[in-house]
Amino acid sequence: MLEKLAIEADLHVHTVASGHAFSTINEIALEAAERGLRAVGMTDHGPALPGGPHYYHFATLNFIPPYLRGVRILRGVEANIVAIGKLDLPDTMLDQLELILAGFHPACGFDQRGMRDNTRAVLALMDKRRAHIICHPGNPEYPLDYEVIARHAALTGTALELNNSSFSMSRAGSADNCRHIARLCARFGTPVALGSDAHIAQGIGYFDDALQALEEAGVAAEQIVNRTLASTLEFLGLPA
Ligand SMILES: [Zn+2]
Ligand SMILES: [Zn+2]
Repeated sequence: MLEKLAIEADLHVHTVASGHAFSTINEIALEAAERGLRAVGMTDHGPALPGGPHYYHFATLNFIPPYLRGVRILRGVEANIVAIGKLDLPDTMLDQLELILAGFHPACGFDQRGMRDNTRAVLALMDKRRAHIICHPGNPEYPLDYEVIARHAALTGTALELNNSSFSMSRAGSADNCRHIARLCARFGTPVALGSDAHIAQGIGYFDDALQALEEAGVAAEQIVNRTLASTLEFLGLPA
């Protein structure tokens, strides 16, 4: 039963740096340690999102120690897809980061572009191995050809996110798309990443709805890249 899995890493968490979230990385690390999480992806929004952090935020992430309160802090970004195959940080900066989520967000150049362009944009990122994870692909505001995406993610080793907030807090109308994506991931053996998308420390580490969808779809535990700290580091190509 996937619902019983103790997932060790939350790969999608926002800090105050995002401009519309409410906890510092220290508060998040403390909460993570108390709840038994072993890794947290610090994935603040890329600079193209209105109110998002400045480029300098990413340039100084190396001030953060790899472990806070015994929790591995992965220096990351939830980057915005701003053109076909292009994110809102330069490649030289992205190369410095440990965890790159890529997704569509309002006012970043992909509103109303339609399924064909959206799908092309994601496929191009996968071909360049420019993102580890495509975040909240189930968002109905940015339609994708899910079968094509899930096949290509499997081919390129890119993970598709099952974002737990998509089932309740955010992006209304996502839940059925997420269940459909989960079934495609089961069919093609696509890597899956779990993220809470928490915007406050107390929200981290919750994956119940996403895990239920994965269980119903028949996704294997081994497909979940962040089930343990070790599997997370291996997926991201980071030393143990
Ligand atoms: Zn997002
Ligand atoms: Zn987010």
